Amino acid sequence: MIKKLTLGFFLLLSLQVFAQKKSPKVIWITLDGLRWQELFTGADSSLVGDSGYTEHLDDLAKEFWTNDPLQRREILMPFVWSTLVEQGQIYGNRELGNKVDCSNQMRFSYPGYNEILTGFADDENIRSNDKILNPNETLLEYVNKQNGFENKVFAFGSWDVFPFIINEERSGVPVNAGFEKANESLTERERFLNELQDEVIGPWGNVRLDVFTHHYAMECLKSKKPKLMYIAYGETDDYAHDGKYDHYLKSARQTDDYIAKLWAYVQSDPFYKDQTTLIITTDHGRGTVPKDAWRYHGEGTPESSQIWFMAMGPNVPALGEVKTNAQLYQNQVAATVAEALGVSYNQSKAGESIPSVFKK
Ligand SMILES: [Zn+2]
Repeated sequence: MIKKLTLGFFLLLSLQVFAQKKSPKVIWITLDGLRWQELFTGADSSLVGDSGYTEHLDDLAKEFWTNDPLQRREILMPFVWSTLVEQGQIYGNRELGNKVDCSNQMRFSYPGYNEILTGFADDENIRSNDKILNPNETLLEYVNKQNGFENKVFAFGSWDVFPFIINEERSGVPVNAGFEKANESLTERERFLNELQDEVIGPWGNVRLDVFTHHYAMECLKSKKPKLMYIAYGETDDYAHDGKYDHYLKSARQTDDYIAKLWAYVQSDPFYKDQTTLIITTDHGRGTVPKDAWRYHGEGTPESSQIWFMAMGPNVPALGEVKTNAQLYQNQVAATVAEALGVSYNQSKAGESIPSVFKK
C-alpha cells in the first residue's frame, strides 16, 4: 500500500514537473514607421506646437510636452521607459552613437517587413507595397515547420498586405490582417470583436484600427497558445502620412499600453511566464528635414532607413538603453527571434543574430 502510494506520488510529481517544463516562446511586434526620434526623445518640439499638424494645440502640449526629453519619452511610452528599459534592452539612440538601420534601400513597408521577417533585404523582388505573394520564406513559415512548433505560429496585422508578405497559403501560418475577422471556434470576445469591426469605421481603406489587431491577437494567445506570435500594429504610419501629429503620438502611446497588457498577460499565464521573449522593432523610419518630412519615408528620404530595436525576456540581460557605439541592421532581427526560440535558422542570406541580446 505504502509502495503504491509512493509510486503514485512520484508519478504525480514527475507529471507536474513535465507540465511546468519551460520552453521558449516569442511575441514579435512591429510598430509601423515610428521614428527613433520620438521613441528616444518623446514629442518633437517643432511639431507638437504646429497647428498644421494638430487640431487642439493646448491639449496636445498638456498631454505630451515637457522640456526634458527623458521625461517626454516616458510620457509617450511609459511601459518601454519603465519596465522594458529596466528588464530588457533598447537599441537605436543615434544621439549616443547606437545605430540601427534598414539594409534595404526602399525604406517603405513591404521591403521592411520582408527584411524583418526573412532576415534579408530583397531589393530586386520586393520593390512596392503591392499585394504580391512573397517569394521568400519568412522565419514564421520556417518555424511553423520545426518540431514542436507546428501550428503554433500565428500572425496578426492591421495592414491588409500581411497575408501576402507572410504568404499565408504557402506558409500555413494563419494571418489575420486588414479587415479580416476571427473565424474559427470563436470565443465570446472574438464574436464581439467581429461585430464591432463592422461598426467602427476607421480612417483608412486598407489598414484597420490597431484595437482590432491587438484584441484578436490577445484572444489567440489565450485560446490557442502560440509559441511564436507576430503582431504588426499599423496606425502610427498612417496617421503620420495624414499629417496628424496628435494621432501619431496618441497611437504610439496606445501601442505602448497594448504591449504592457501583452506582457502582463504573458507573465500571469504559466504557459508563458518567464519563458517568453518580446522582440519589438519597426519597418522604417521617417524624414526630418524639411519640417514636413516627418510625414514621409522612402528612397528619396535617406534618414528613413534609421530604425530601432528592443528585446526583453528570460535570457536577455538587462542592459537598458544601449549606449555603445554600434551599427546594427534590420536583417539581424529574424535570427535574433530564432535564437530566442532556440531554433537554428537555416537561412544563409539572413543577418546574424544581435550578439548582446542573449546571455552567453
Ligand atoms: Zn508609410
